Amino acid sequence: MVKAVVGANWGDEGKGKITDMLSKEADIICRFQGGANAGHTIVNDYGKFALHTLPSGVFYDHTTSIIGNGVALNIPVLFKEIKSITDQNVPMPKIKVSDRAQIVMSYHILFDQYEEERLGGKSFGSTKSGIAPFYSDKYAKIGFQVSELFDEELLQEKVVRICETKNVLLEHLYHKPLIKPEELLKELHEYRDMVAPYVCDVSAFLYEAIKEGKNILLEGQLGSLKDPDHGIYPMVTSSSTLAAYGAIGAGLPPYEIKQIITVCKAYSSAVGAGAFVSEIFGEEADELRRRGGDGGEYGATTGRPRRMGWFDCVASKYGCRIQGTTDVAFTVLDVLGYLDEIPVCVGYEIDGEVTTDFPTTAKLEKAKPVLKTLPGWKSDIRGIKNYEELPENCRKYIEFIEQQIGFPITMVSNGPGRNDIIYRNK
Ligand code: GDP
Repeated sequence: MVKAVVGANWGDEGKGKITDMLSKEADIICRFQGGANAGHTIVNDYGKFALHTLPSGVFYDHTTSIIGNGVALNIPVLFKEIKSITDQNVPMPKIKVSDRAQIVMSYHILFDQYEEERLGGKSFGSTKSGIAPFYSDKYAKIGFQVSELFDEELLQEKVVRICETKNVLLEHLYHKPLIKPEELLKELHEYRDMVAPYVCDVSAFLYEAIKEGKNILLEGQLGSLKDPDHGIYPMVTSSSTLAAYGAIGAGLPPYEIKQIITVCKAYSSAVGAGAFVSEIFGEEADELRRRGGDGGEYGATTGRPRRMGWFDCVASKYGCRIQGTTDVAFTVLDVLGYLDEIPVCVGYEIDGEVTTDFPTTAKLEKAKPVLKTLPGWKSDIRGIKNYEELPENCRKYIEFIEQQIGFPITMVSNGPGRNDIIYRNK
């Protein structure tokens, strides 16, 4: 059985915690897109971890962690991450890296920085991890696939070709130092030696695993609104964030994905530029940011303060629909316990008309939030295990949002830990 854990919004919804929790029942956890540009924060028996490349299921002995072909594979980051978890006494995980994954090169990271510098105030707010240049090269067919690391003749020819194209841009567009074929070759050899023990024909491995009835979890990065096709283009990421892409980015049949768990946070946060209709500012935002997540809403990779907002029913209804949601995991609800009243965005006003349909970007820029205020519950809900024991106003908040987004909230997360979860039978 294959399940996917994906985000409904701008990312940072708490997918890491839900994946870590569901990994208990999983045999294989697979990353299928994105790279080391975003992170998941996980709190479990071993401590607190920020993962960027490894799937959030690496903490169990019984699981295999897979980096699928759709991932932007940064090999030094992967190794640093393995070391950071084993240094904290997590047993060495079983890792497989797809032979079809492509490699983030040091020049991708440089180009990302140079392009942000060039764009100045008009930049996309990239994390400068090389993700956009990486995926551009993948689709321009000048990327390095893991399998190619083992073909010396190909590498020697290709590094010369890559330097020719890259150096034109470095010299004339960015006015930066040029790159040399022998340096690239050295970098690739290092990567080859590091990754060699883990290389695997992942789609064949997963095909067999499905036949054997294994439980496979696909872990998405970011959320629906950052999808290059269905998100807030161009303020999006460079690979699809949708569960459907799990089939491609891991290499398994689309019809095998039986459950799509879309993670939705009880309020909104976003990083980077782009329209954010329910955004709040000033002291109101600072307080929510301070209290949010587990130790504040700051980027797991960059430490950047996140932009904050109230729950957005319009964006979340759309975000859940485009994922193909079967279940919603509603997270970080405990954080809202300090509020007397909780505003929720229930519609967008665009050119004088109110809609609950999420628009394309130009219209989204004009949208103003239509807010409805719900009463708060003014108490700490951490530690509660049964839905019926939640305060009445808290249940009303969940049920109101469930009705607005139109997808069943079957899990409510009321704390960062593995066991802070309330299951609802829907
Ligand atoms: P991801 O990228 O979707 O995995 O999300 P992040 O890891 O960036 O952000 C989620 C943050 O919220 C992390 O710091 C988690 O430890 C924390 N978190 C997850 N679920 C809950 C919850 O139910 N309550 C609280 N207080 N924190 C949570």
